[in-house]
Amino acid sequence: MDHFLYRNGQLFAEDVPVAEIAEAVGTPFYCYSTATLTRHFRLFDEALEGTEHLVCYAMKAASNQAILKTLAALGAGMDVVSGGEYARARAAGVPGERIVFSGVGKTREEMRQALEGGIRQFNVESEPEMAALNAVALELGVTAPIAVRVNPDVDAKTHAKIATGKSENKFGIPIARAREVYAEAAAMPGLEVVGIDVHIGSQLTELEPFRLAYEKVAELTGVLRRDGHDIRRLDLGGGLGIPYTRSNDAPPLPTEYGQLIKDTLGHLGCEIEIEPGRLVVGNAGILVSRVIYRKSGEGRDFLILDAAMNDLIRPAMYDAHHDIVPVQEPAPGAEQAPYDVVGPVCESGDTFARGRMLPPVGEGDLVAFRSAGAYGAVMSSEYNTRPLIPEVLVHEHQFAVIRQRPTFDEIIKRDTIPEWL
Ligand SMILES: *Cc1c(COP(=O)(O)O)cnc(C)c1O
Repeated sequence: MDHFLYRNGQLFAEDVPVAEIAEAVGTPFYCYSTATLTRHFRLFDEALEGTEHLVCYAMKAASNQAILKTLAALGAGMDVVSGGEYARARAAGVPGERIVFSGVGKTREEMRQALEGGIRQFNVESEPEMAALNAVALELGVTAPIAVRVNPDVDAKTHAKIATGKSENKFGIPIARAREVYAEAAAMPGLEVVGIDVHIGSQLTELEPFRLAYEKVAELTGVLRRDGHDIRRLDLGGGLGIPYTRSNDAPPLPTEYGQLIKDTLGHLGCEIEIEPGRLVVGNAGILVSRVIYRKSGEGRDFLILDAAMNDLIRPAMYDAHHDIVPVQEPAPGAEQAPYDVVGPVCESGDTFARGRMLPPVGEGDLVAFRSAGAYGAVMSSEYNTRPLIPEVLVHEHQFAVIRQRPTFDEIIKRDTIPEWL
């Protein structure tokens, strides 16, 4: 459920007409709903009620500080994957003890930054990384709390580019080697083992892969405890999928996911961490764009928008589907026609949808891409020297620009010309 609905023939973001925002900030832009963010965060939080837990929002899905602040105020922790994300989370007021640091290639510099600034736990992904973290912690005279990310060799049944839990993926250490690696960790004086970490992929639409992974984590918890490790925290990753269209089967609900966690791991008495990203912010954001031209091709018609692949890369990168709706509500029973919906970038991959059935839309009309909140703005670039587009946050009847559109001047000034030119 989200808060982007038609009212009086117009698309609203909560209590604000989307067309009014477009008038004020220009197109294209991302627009987020506070009410939807709040609702989705709470669904996870409530799904784990009765169990000691922390929901660490995976901020790589959408990392604007206004979004982080909104979630942190509800009690969210953060899952970060870079020094930049760590700095952003801290700038948004998230305390270090609510930040977990994930990622396969943390540098010594990033480790130092987090150890000095405060960190809840590092999810380490390899033995060389473990050795590096141990060395950095000893240098600083502190101990680094760690969980080892295990790769459970489970098929997440999702798009290959976002599956992370099979043995051929680069993530984590093979679960079969966990005892050995935990023994090594325990022997390193700069590290303190606090738990186990697992994350098998993104946009999972079934619970079964989670069940398989979590059963393996439960078993491993027993084994490691018998080996003398104080496993008190289980980080279960993110990955629960969202419905990208209204027509297909809905993915499992956070309540069902929470129940699965309690069923598979509840008896262990561990504190639970989860790292949802997409489900928190995906349906809390839309991308609003204007039609520049309607062009008739051979056997197909193109709708050329002012948004492009550099603003929303998911269709080009993951063959992702986004529902596209006119901001002006179509008349009931309006006849639909097929369009190839494209952007102005000089790549054939700059195609949002092929043969998409749409009600009548023409030049100058506004359209909205639904479910664009996650892996949207954060993956955008300035390819073709197209400025990063603004982000807007709506709260009831108010809206605010939370990231400005840079001017051409600001973009051009970032280049520096060597003196010999
Ligand atoms: C990307 C990622 C997540 C979030 O995944 P979603 O599918 O957005 O919920 C959580 N944990 C880790 C380690 C990740 O890499």
